[in-house]
Amino acid sequence: MIVGIDLGGTKIEACLFDHRLEPMIRRRTATPTSSFEAMLDGLVDQYRWACAEAGQQGLKLGIGVPGTVDRLTGRLLASNLPSTDKSLPRELEQRLNVAVAAENDCKCFALSEANGGAGAGATTVFGLILGTGCGGGVCHRGALVRGLAGLPGEIGHLGIPVGFAGRVPVLTCACGRVGCYETLVSGPGLQILGRWMTGDDAPAPEIAARAASGATGATAVMALWCELVAELLLTIQTSIDPDHIVLGGGLSKIPGITGLLTARMQTTLMEGVPLPQLSVAQFGDASGVRGAAMLHIHATGPALQT
Ligand SMILES: [Zn+2]
Repeated sequence: MIVGIDLGGTKIEACLFDHRLEPMIRRRTATPTSSFEAMLDGLVDQYRWACAEAGQQGLKLGIGVPGTVDRLTGRLLASNLPSTDKSLPRELEQRLNVAVAAENDCKCFALSEANGGAGAGATTVFGLILGTGCGGGVCHRGALVRGLAGLPGEIGHLGIPVGFAGRVPVLTCACGRVGCYETLVSGPGLQILGRWMTGDDAPAPEIAARAASGATGATAVMALWCELVAELLLTIQTSIDPDHIVLGGGLSKIPGITGLLTARMQTTLMEGVPLPQLSVAQFGDASGVRGAAMLHIHATGPALQT
């Protein structure tokens, strides 16, 4: 058995998996955000609960976290959680005396969907999250590509191409840069795009529903959003050339999204180049915690120097 934890800004989801990575039992608790120590206490509590349920101590632990985990120090970077100079995995290892692996939650998602998920059997899988933010991860032959600094797949912070100038608002991103894809293709981004184009402040799911029912303004907003996401997908294709792209996050639940995006991609695809297969996640919101549990099995590249 193995324990997977998905550490989010508001909740900590823990799940106990059997040796075939089938989920056995899961529990959600609120994320303590008053301090790094309180957050560690919350993680320890969830891990100990899972071990008690398993009736076994010393189980390996994998954690998915928002933001990135510094490959050299194990520090949490660019996340909305309490952070210190301390290494999250090392602090947990010292408290629990077990092996702890930690990785960005989008990369856990990609790992899960590449192994037994929607991208199973593909050589190279790109997992793309379109939710509160926009991020991704790359798996090659089932193994997570970690790169030098843990960045492969951080495509939300690529710049929107100049071809969109004048047609979309130019916004400062949470990362500090200007004009990142994340500012417009994420859920909050779609809402901002809708407000900018129509003056209506409807949330993303409502824009999609209105467009599906034929409302003119929402249809135009969804068309431009699809154009932006399709351009991002083509950038993923030209830089990584995956044979399968798996979509996750709240916006992946828009009915017919793969058809909408595939149709748009075909209008600007390089001549003679095949489209990668596009799917929606098989494990949905549970993929993050599943991928976290897989970190001890399917990750490659430089290990964290804890
Ligand atoms: Zn950014």
